[in-house]
Amino acid sequence: HDDNLVKAVDRIMRHADGVRRLRVRANADTPEDAARARRFGAEGIGLCRTEHMFLGERRQLVEDLVLASGDTERQAALDALEPLQKADFVGIFRAMEGRPVTVRLIDPPLHEFLPDLTDLSVKVALAEAGSGEASDKDRRLLAAVKRLHEQNPMLGLRGVRLGLVIPGLFAMQVRAIAQAAKEVPGARPEIMIPLVAAVQELEAVREEATAILAEVGVDALVGTMIETPRAAVTAGQVAEAAQFFSFGTNDLTQMMWGFSRDDVEAAFFSRYLELGIFGVSPFETLDRDGVGRLVRLATDEGRAVRSDLKVGICGEHGGDPDSVHFCHDAGLDYVSCSPFRIPVARLEAARAALSDNESDTR
Ligand code: PEP
Ligand code: MG
Repeated sequence: HDDNLVKAVDRIMRHADGVRRLRVRANADTPEDAARARRFGAEGIGLCRTEHMFLGERRQLVEDLVLASGDTERQAALDALEPLQKADFVGIFRAMEGRPVTVRLIDPPLHEFLPDLTDLSVKVALAEAGSGEASDKDRRLLAAVKRLHEQNPMLGLRGVRLGLVIPGLFAMQVRAIAQAAKEVPGARPEIMIPLVAAVQELEAVREEATAILAEVGVDALVGTMIETPRAAVTAGQVAEAAQFFSFGTNDLTQMMWGFSRDDVEAAFFSRYLELGIFGVSPFETLDRDGVGRLVRLATDEGRAVRSDLKVGICGEHGGDPDSVHFCHDAGLDYVSCSPFRIPVARLEAARAALSDNESDTR
């Protein structure tokens, strides 16, 4: 029985794949995620976040990077990270067997990789009071964490801003990606820059990235996330410097509504749902009237400047059926979602294509 069911599902999915126009990729960060994504039918990785490549034992190196007193020390920390990240990318490229892999360069604020401000403060204060121990490094780290502290970190030193403020950080990642791609036959890396708001930011990073790719002798698309309203409304300019767009609808929703994606639901979403201000959280289903208009505008203006611009979406909405339908209607090339949501995205993409045909023949 189970066997028949598996075969029937497989037949339906194959049929859906024959019908749909929208491609379906996965958000996957490790070779294990990538392998799972393949099993669910992913046609590539649309978002490989690289944050975990700075965590675990590598936090030590991030601390060295932040505490570096000059170019030489900073570069030493980056040089130590590069082969570790290269190995990570080799694993991911191998798992994807020649399918495209969009690697997003580091996005979160650096303090997320450092010890907690309160913990460090307590440790140093206790040591000063004579009832504990704190090293010189602890004291320097405390000063660095205080210096990096922000009231609104999600609107602060993250994404492309981090890449521009810390020399060599993005270059290290691009070199690791390029070296890995060189080692894996058929690898198709795409380099994605987060949180861009102005084409000038993208130009600066792209210039450095293309020089490194040329030096290593690897081809890769260089593109951007569209996740700030400004990037969306200046998409015509941004497309001059981007070979692809990927909508980060988590941040785009946050910034469009002015809702904190980390806090807002607990604070008042249930009341808003009760009041009918919206029927469903805009973080779950793409808000067509607001965020959706930005997606359409940026897609159209971007393609007007660059006709072969590849356009996708990699926010959580990429696996929500209603949002997938919208992405088809808006003419996107692909959606990227959690591996577990891929089958649903494949089916919904097919339904959207079928409803086009129905309205054609009506
Ligand atoms: C987004 O903002 O939609 C996105 C995909 O990036 P992240 O969730 O990592 O900010
Ligand atoms: Mg984002």
